[in-house]
Amino acid sequence: MTFAATILTLYPEMFPGPLGVSLAGRALGEGTWSLDTVQLRDFGIGKHANVDDTPAGGGAGMVLRADVLGAAVDSVADERPILAMTPRGTPITQARIRELAMGPGVSLICGRFEGFDERIFEARQIEEVSLGDIVLSGGETAALAILDACIRLLPGVMGAANSGVEESFEDGLLEHPQFTRPQEWEGRTIPQVLRSGDHAKIAAWRKHRAEEDTRLRRPDLWERHKGVRDQSASGARHENKDDRQ
Ligand code: SAH
Repeated sequence: MTFAATILTLYPEMFPGPLGVSLAGRALGEGTWSLDTVQLRDFGIGKHANVDDTPAGGGAGMVLRADVLGAAVDSVADERPILAMTPRGTPITQARIRELAMGPGVSLICGRFEGFDERIFEARQIEEVSLGDIVLSGGETAALAILDACIRLLPGVMGAANSGVEESFEDGLLEHPQFTRPQEWEGRTIPQVLRSGDHAKIAAWRKHRAEEDTRLRRPDLWERHKGVRDQSASGARHENKDDRQ
């Protein structure tokens, strides 16, 4: 099944861009995923095909019109989820990416200027998504990042079959640090355990570093991970109790 991506944008020439090379590019060529773009300007209003207007209430910049966005969104309406790129949205997570990658595809709306007329989100089924607490000049680079994350999970795209499940965030933790040759570089060596050949010890070291680094670098992820872990542990206890009855 082909994962179908549709991008609604004022700059269709930005696609596939970086997704036309390497693994994603090859997968596109092989038909693992498909790409089409919708030019928002095609739904513009009047002689000048206007897509934006000044913000109600005043202030700098321009806002994408709800009527233009509505017509563009209606032109792609199908069973695929529609995501709008906006710093006001829910920060995208690897869990959501995985869900999207398992589905039929996605439509992504890229904002420009000051963003979208809010009424589009009231009137249509659209998921507002953010790439994180940064401000981009347009939604296109966010859409490329989200698509990239989906595509690499599609069956057959990545070489090693399980390299998708052992990475950062897949179990709510950061990945352990990685090393490769040379064994010594500028006087620094690779941790001894990784050279021991003892797979159990290596697995234990990696788990420890994943937990420790997550705790230190990302207390937010760590708290959530602990919560999930404790909950499933108490769930297991309850089940055991039920078993005894
Ligand atoms: N005035 C807006 C920013 C607009 S930036 C605000 O302060 O919220 C212009 C466009 O870039 C947005 O409409 C959106 O599509 C995109 N964009 C900017 N930052 C983004 C982010 N962190 N995540 C996703 N899209 C973003």
